[in-house]
Order: sequence, then structure tokens, then C-alpha cells
Amino acid sequence: MIEHLNTVCYRFKSVENSWTLPVYLEHGGYAVWKEIVKTAPDPKDLIEVIKRSGLRGRGGAGFPTGLKWSFMDRNAPGPKYLICNSDEGEPGTFKDRQILTTNPHQLIEGMLIASYVMGLDVGYNFLRGEFALPFQRCESALAEARAAGLVGASILGSKLNIEIHNILGAGSYIVGEETAMIEALEGKRAYPRYKPPFPAVHGLYGQPTTVNNTETLASVPMILAQGADWFSGLGTEKSGGTKMFSVSGHVNNPGVFEIPLGTSFESLLALAGGLQEGRSCLAVIPGGTSMRVVPGAEMLTSEMSYEGMEAVGSAIGSGGLIVMDDRTDIAQALAVMMEFYQHESCGQCTPCREGSGWVSALTARLAQGLGKPGDIDRLYAIAKQIEGRTICAFGEAISWPVTSFIQHFRPQLEVGIASNESSENCT
Ligand code: SF4
Repeated sequence: MIEHLNTVCYRFKSVENSWTLPVYLEHGGYAVWKEIVKTAPDPKDLIEVIKRSGLRGRGGAGFPTGLKWSFMDRNAPGPKYLICNSDEGEPGTFKDRQILTTNPHQLIEGMLIASYVMGLDVGYNFLRGEFALPFQRCESALAEARAAGLVGASILGSKLNIEIHNILGAGSYIVGEETAMIEALEGKRAYPRYKPPFPAVHGLYGQPTTVNNTETLASVPMILAQGADWFSGLGTEKSGGTKMFSVSGHVNNPGVFEIPLGTSFESLLALAGGLQEGRSCLAVIPGGTSMRVVPGAEMLTSEMSYEGMEAVGSAIGSGGLIVMDDRTDIAQALAVMMEFYQHESCGQCTPCREGSGWVSALTARLAQGLGKPGDIDRLYAIAKQIEGRTICAFGEAISWPVTSFIQHFRPQLEVGIASNESSENCT
């Protein structure tokens, strides 16, 4: 059991009015930003600090943040943009909304610092369409920061100009994909773009753009305030700092927990109140439903770090951790996920558009006990055919859950094959 949490982003969860400027200033808020505006440090030095801290993207892919920032060409002509991805649509994930609601000023400060480091002119904080309260809090925090001269033109009387806007999405899963988000910001339908070119070269309005996750950007002020060694020392050698996990499913105390990376899964489970009396852990999805499922027994001996999750064949992803105990109907759980992914496919790529429908139909009939002999192999083959053949990673979001559920829980899925059925037809 963890007695003390070294919180970085979720540090104000019990502080009254933590979303207001006076409270944030009381806790040392904007000190880093004010110092940067005053002393104009070399952006390269700040990138080095972020690199040494070990900060990796907290939205899903886990790409090293300092390295991503170093891709931006500060001298490219025309405006350059920052996008904070606050869409948080991955099923099982509900941690960024806590930052947006309880600590919006730290996110704004992180966006300002990131913009300074990369020479960006405008930052867009793109929030999920359903985030009414988080949006309201972010808007009021932004108005406070602007009135205090921390954001906008001639920041704190300097020659620095950085504008920030909060944007409320229209509600879709795929808009969380970075190039789809760029399309949406341009006023178009949220269709993911082919890559390359990558956003760092050709992003919003065809200009250089960096897209970072909410938790990633909100970590930045604390890293610069406390130092790279402090942050990296909170985690493991390959996974610096803390990570927020949203824990749901069959636990007694579901919620959001910020823990040092490298913490054992057992400790995180204990923070979430453990399993109900007499139940055992059958399966865990550690990073949102697009990540591979892990058998409970393997999770119980694992640690929550990038390398720890890789060792059990999955990934931290967005930190949306779903616990399933021994009562779980595995076929039903998979069918629910696949129905969601079929609904959310944007339809641009044939393997995803058609494959998601086939996978959804097959998992649904297994869940209903109406599966046909050969269905599980057929399901596996379809999922494998989708993987790596699509414009965006949504193809993997369909494929990985299916193949890992079959790999680990084939006997449970076979229960869904109707005993009197002998047809080999897919339809
Ligand atoms: Fe759209 Fe799916 Fe293709 Fe992504 S993989 S672009 S969601 S059809």
C-alpha cells in the first residue's frame, strides 16, 4: 500500500477552489513562467531538462516529450501551433478531466512554456464535447490568466505574444487522433490524415504543429520547478515521473490515482479498494480498451511502468485501467468493445470500415451463444488483416483487443459456439 503519493498533476484534488488563479499562485503557480518571461532562457536548455526528466506522452503512445519538442523548427516561416489533446475518448479513461477541472492553470502554464520552448504562436486546448464543467473551469482560468497579463499580447510587459484558446469538440472518438483533431480545428470532419507529412512539418492550416496530451503538458511546470532529477527519480530508469491511472471495473473504490511509475499493480489495486471479497482477478486492460488485455495472474506480479506493461504484452496507453474479476463474461466484454469501435470507425479505410463490422458481428454472436465452428479463428484472421493496413492506429485499436482476448481467453470464447451448429459460413 502506498502511504504517500508524489503527485504532479492531480495535486489539488482536495484543495478548495484549486481551479482559481489566487489558489494556484498561493501554491507557487506561474513562478516558472514568470521566470522564463523575465530571463528568456535558451529554449534548447529547457528541452534538455524535459528530455532528462524522462517525460513521455501520457495520451497513449508514450513518445518521449523532449524529443517530440525538438522536432519543431522554430525558424519555419508563418505561424506555428500547439494543440493540447484534451479529448480523452478512450473507453476506461477519465483522468485528464480531473486536471481540466481541478488544475487548469497548471495546464495553461504548461502550454505557455511549451509554446515558448518551441516558438509557437497559438495554443488550442481541444476538449471533448461532453466536458461541460472542465470547459467552464478552463475558460474561467484562461480569462483570469489573460487578465493577469500571463497570456496574450506583450506577456507581463515583454515582447512575447502567445495566445491560448479552449475549444469544445462535437463528440467523437476518432477526433482524439491528432491529425483528425487538426482537421476538426480547421472546421472539417474529423478524418485522420495520411502521415507523413507529420504535424511538426504540416499541421494545423498547413503550418508546423505540436500535439501533446493534457497530462503531459500539465507535468511541465512541475518538472521545471523541481528539476529533471526530481521527476525522473519518482519513476524508473525508463519511465520517469508519475502517471495518473483511472481505475474502473470490479474494484471497491474506482477512481483516479496518480502514482510513481514503477509502482506495483497490486499497490494500485489496493488504492482502488481491491477486489470484492472472495473474487479473483481474471483479466486487466491496463491502458484503455484499445490496448491488449492481460490475464489477472500476470498483472498481479507486474509493475505499472512502460517497460513493466511491455513485459506482460500490453502498454500503459492512456492509463485507463479496467479490472475484470472471475464473474466477467469475456465474450460479452469483447463484444461491447467491438460494437463501440464499429460505431466510431470514420470509414475512410476499407479494412477498418468493413473489418470492424465483421468483428463486431462475430463477437456479438459469440456473446449470444450463437457462434459457429471456426468463428474464433475467423475472428482472429480478420483482426490480423486489419492491423497495420489503415491510415491511423484505430486499426490496431480493433485488432489488439481481439487477438489478445483470443490468445488468453480462448476457452471462455469457445463457450459461445453453439453446440448444434456445424456451418463454416461467416454469415
Ligand atoms: Fe478512419 Fe479507421 Fe481508417 Fe482510422 S483506421 S482513418 S478510423 S477508417
